Parts: sequence; C-alpha cells; structure tokens
Amino acid sequence: MSPPARLTVLSGPSGAGKGSVVAAVRRRHPEVWLSVSVTTRAPRPGETHGVEYYFVDDTEFARMVAADELLEHDAHMGASYGTPRRPVDEQLASGVPVLLEIDLNGARQVRASMPDAQLVFLAPPSFDELARRLVGRGTEDPEKVRDRLDRARIEIAAEDEFDELIVNDDIESAADRLVALMQIAS
Ligand code: 5GP
Repeated sequence: MSPPARLTVLSGPSGAGKGSVVAAVRRRHPEVWLSVSVTTRAPRPGETHGVEYYFVDDTEFARMVAADELLEHDAHMGASYGTPRRPVDEQLASGVPVLLEIDLNGARQVRASMPDAQLVFLAPPSFDELARRLVGRGTEDPEKVRDRLDRARIEIAAEDEFDELIVNDDIESAADRLVALMQIAS
C-alpha cells in the first residue's frame, strides 16, 4: 500500500524565496496541490482572485474564523491570512500531496492540529543576504522593510521547531530538496 498523502508546510522569513521554490516544485510536479489562502490584504498588480489568494473583506474573514473554516490563520502587516480547511482535507483524502506556504504562527497551528504534517523551514543563506533581498525588492517603504526584518529575526529564531531545514542558496537545489522531502514519485 502506498503511504498516505502528506501535508507539507513550507515556512520561513519573507525574502527567503518561498514563492520561487514553490513555483519551481510545481513546474516539475504539477500534481502537487498548493493551498490558496484567503487574505484581507489588497491584491498586488497582477494578482488574481482565486490564483495567488482569495481576497476577502474583514467581515468575511471573521465569518470564516467563527465558522471554523480555516485550518490556521494569522495577521501579518495589518492584514489577515488563513488556509481554508476543507480543500486541504479533500486533497489529502484523495491521495494528493499538499503544500502550504504560510508563516511561522500558521505552521505552529498546523503542527498542533495535524501532528503528522511535515514542517519545512526555508532559510536564506544568511541574514545579510535576506536583508539585501528585502531592501532590493524596492516595492516596500522603509518602515515595512524594517518590520519584515524584525519579523525575519523572530522567524529565524524558531528554526528548531521545524522537522527539516532547507537553505535557499540556489532555487533549483532547494526545490530538489523539497521534492525529496515530499516523497513525490518521479
Ligand atoms: P504576502 O502578503 O507577501 O503574499 O504574504 C505575507 C506573508 O503571509 C508571507 O510570509 C506568507 O507566507 C504568509 N501567508 C500567506 N498565506 C498565509 C496563510 O494562509 N496563513 C498564514 N499563517 N500565513 C500566510
């Protein structure tokens, strides 16, 4: 019998490259199902409802929390983010490997409610490199960059809570490691 499909949580500080690594994994393994979170933040240019996120208002988000429709949720830079529970359960039940890309507090909540989940921490090569990437993005004002750096320090300190650590010094190699950890048949 094949092992049950596994839930893998990828977390790590903003700027570690989670989005690029996930994109590389999905290019190679389109069968991996990536959860689409709900968020109350505004869409950025080029983002589409239902693709990067489901964009909802505060009232709808609060309703989902109250109805226990979210597997986990957290606030980030003044906006709320959460993982809809039902699609995750459905994909796992039908044998599909599931990947969540969420923040540290979210990863902790998943650990508490689904102890079999595999928690993977994506770390930047160094804090200096992370700072360079966050500043270099040029999309955020200096105060937001400072907030992200403060949060990154907190997230990096929690690295030991994770089952696995991947250092993202190269996107394709980091994606190789994540694929190996997810035990996806090639
Ligand atoms: P962004 O607004 O840049 O897309 O994401 C900001 C942060 O929110 C990132 O660290 C991302 O991993 C995290 N995030 C995205 N979706 C979720 C979610 O569903 N739950 C939690 N806890 N964090 C999320």
